[in-house]
Amino acid sequence: MLVIMKNDASESQITSVISHIESLGFRGIPIPGALRTAVCIVGNQGFIDDTQLLSLEGVKECLRVTRPYKLVSRETHPQPSNIILGEVRIGGKKPVIMAGPCAIESEKQSLEIALSVKTAGAQIFRGGAYKPRTSPYSFQGLGEEGLKILSKVRRETGLLIITEATDITNIELVEKYTDIIQIGARNMQNYSLLRRAGQMNKPILLKRGFAATIEELLMSAEYIMSEGNSRIILCERGIRTFADNTRNTLDISAIPSIKEVSHLPVIVDPSHAAGRREYVIPLSRGAIAAGADGLIVEVHNDPPHSVSDGRQSLYLDQFEKLMQEIDKLNV
Ligand code: PEP
Ligand code: MN
Repeated sequence: MLVIMKNDASESQITSVISHIESLGFRGIPIPGALRTAVCIVGNQGFIDDTQLLSLEGVKECLRVTRPYKLVSRETHPQPSNIILGEVRIGGKKPVIMAGPCAIESEKQSLEIALSVKTAGAQIFRGGAYKPRTSPYSFQGLGEEGLKILSKVRRETGLLIITEATDITNIELVEKYTDIIQIGARNMQNYSLLRRAGQMNKPILLKRGFAATIEELLMSAEYIMSEGNSRIILCERGIRTFADNTRNTLDISAIPSIKEVSHLPVIVDPSHAAGRREYVIPLSRGAIAAGADGLIVEVHNDPPHSVSDGRQSLYLDQFEKLMQEIDKLNV
């Protein structure tokens, strides 16, 4: 339930509403809006009688949130939420482009790719220092050494950084070095990791699991937000279907479907969806045209020798072409 406060409600009236909610055994989370504050009740399993709440000073009305997810739902927060990092706004008018290699391999490789994608117009540099690999024998990432390389990339290029935390054992270290913490598809339902992500002071990019419904994705985002971190970006990265022409099937319909029910920004990863670089530009155009707030794309200076996901990584000049194509969409 949402307790909508009057426009002129005071801080102490809001605090009293929260205390009343706590006395019922639930949690009250204040959600400030442009005109008024709402207090979202979380933790209740069923019906709450709103008679007493309505009699409290400063309360305008009580609205029922019909979805199983509360804090991430549009009913709770009708305006789209924006994630602002310095000059970069995710969820605003212009799509934000994150680009870089699948994995951080070396300082030389990272700087060369970063300088090139920056010149082409990317705002955020991606690259995994901890890699969730399907095989235990595949390259697992450089770990902290990779994080240090990412820091250097930030210093030398001014690009923001996104990198993945794969576990509760590395999320704090990742938080120290990065601007955005990525939670990968395989971890979308790792609830202890989601809770830790909710306690972090950095925005979280949450990727959709390859067999997850939109509702499950939003429930996972709710885990993060219920711990206090409201800066969440969702990412559609392809789901597993019977189709075998691509690595995964990009679910373009996820973009409007999520936006209808949630205020969170949605970006698309065309690389892990396609699995082949030839499809990355058309899928990116489709994603932006369907309303995505940005892209996260794999780019490499030498894809055939990439330690991971070379087949889906764009060459540097292809990334430049991608940026020109997006510009032509005039968004
Ligand atoms: C990645 O972004 O490098 C990655 C591993 O993606 P996903 O979790 O979507 O497979
Ligand atoms: Mn990858």
